[in-house]
Amino acid sequence: MGDRPRVGISACLLGEPVRYDGRHKRDAWLVDVLGPQVEWVSVCPEVEAGFGTPRESMELVHDAIGRTALITTGTKRDVTDTLQRYADRRVEELSRADLDGYVLKADSPSCGLEGPGLFAAVLTARMPDLPIVDERQLVEGLARQRFADGVRAHHRARSVAAESSPFRDVSIVRMKNGQAAHAIDRAATEEPLEIRLHSQPFAVIMRTPGADRELAAGFLLAERVIRNADELGTIEYCTDRDRDEAGVVQNVVNVTLAPELEDRVSRVLDGRRQVTTNSSCGLCGRRTIESLATDVAPLGATWRVAASTIGQMPSRLRERQAIFDETGGLHAAGLFTHGGELIDVAEDVGRHNAVDKIVGRCLMRDALPLSSHMLCVSGRTSFEIVQKALFAGIPVVAAVSAPSTLAIDLARAFGITLVGFVRDGDFTIYAHAERVEG
Ligand code: SF4
Repeated sequence: MGDRPRVGISACLLGEPVRYDGRHKRDAWLVDVLGPQVEWVSVCPEVEAGFGTPRESMELVHDAIGRTALITTGTKRDVTDTLQRYADRRVEELSRADLDGYVLKADSPSCGLEGPGLFAAVLTARMPDLPIVDERQLVEGLARQRFADGVRAHHRARSVAAESSPFRDVSIVRMKNGQAAHAIDRAATEEPLEIRLHSQPFAVIMRTPGADRELAAGFLLAERVIRNADELGTIEYCTDRDRDEAGVVQNVVNVTLAPELEDRVSRVLDGRRQVTTNSSCGLCGRRTIESLATDVAPLGATWRVAASTIGQMPSRLRERQAIFDETGGLHAAGLFTHGGELIDVAEDVGRHNAVDKIVGRCLMRDALPLSSHMLCVSGRTSFEIVQKALFAGIPVVAAVSAPSTLAIDLARAFGITLVGFVRDGDFTIYAHAERVEG
């Protein structure tokens, strides 16, 4: 999951011109102070329900039997059912969109907490544990602090739950026949697991959470650190780093070998230092989870690519997979211009190696960054593939299969358009859909 909390917000508060009169209600504190600390999920119920901008203003009317109706103020049209149907569907989507808080626009028949507005009523009923406020409740420093703290606490609790789950719901844009539709999809979790040997960092493995102790045992056997079960002492989740609020440390296991193997442990750790220094295997060679942090700036390419161009990338790549034709067993990576021209192809038993070959060729020609290019890979996208694209400056990554959660999080954080399931011209966008035009 992403580093920053995700907060829903009435779109007009961000300065989007979606009010009935075509104006906005930009809130400077939300945009300038809270904004850099969170990832906004912008929602304008009235526009998304199809009323357009500008539109007739609306008001809530309460009749004699206590029913509340949403009525346009000029023509007195009853639009309750339209907005109610939209709110039920959209809030259901938002309940699976990993939100950590919500800021609503006060005094709105749709968004207002008082009244309450139709959308606000569904939202607060469906997500009773979410910190939800309107902007009027955020004028004082103490209230702002309390809301920001609540959002961060929610995000931390969600992080703990996500780390131990094998999958996660993510918001996506589905492109079908050139038409975009927002939806929620499920992605396989990818999380780093740090394996320590006698409390010393030994390796970081990207994995799907579950059976971590067994994974560590199998990994150490494969690395020839142990040769049989008798050599294994204990495998325990680590407890020596800062605990999260739930008191759980999910992503670090410490392995202790049998006491008579102390010398072997020292040798292995010394040798490991050599291996990791020379490793070309991306994160597998990294020694601590902290090393995931990167100082690369987000990619800011502003060009857009046609959906039809993305839809054709895998078939164009497949036409150029010469070794695959012979063997049926190789991964491929292709480098495209953003106009859709395939300019380089590499094949390898490892998908990440195929990407390295492409990027390495460009590097040796001094052609980085590849900021006008797109990468297409066979199979699925992991964190490692997106990281390689980031370091090469490639702003669009497409794949035939699904991305992992960590690939999605990295793409979202660093401005990379991430596309998966590109099949028969249709595909799913997991990050930065704004670069794709239908
Ligand atoms: Fe849209 Fe809500 Fe703002 Fe009205 S108050 S313009 S419905 S986001």
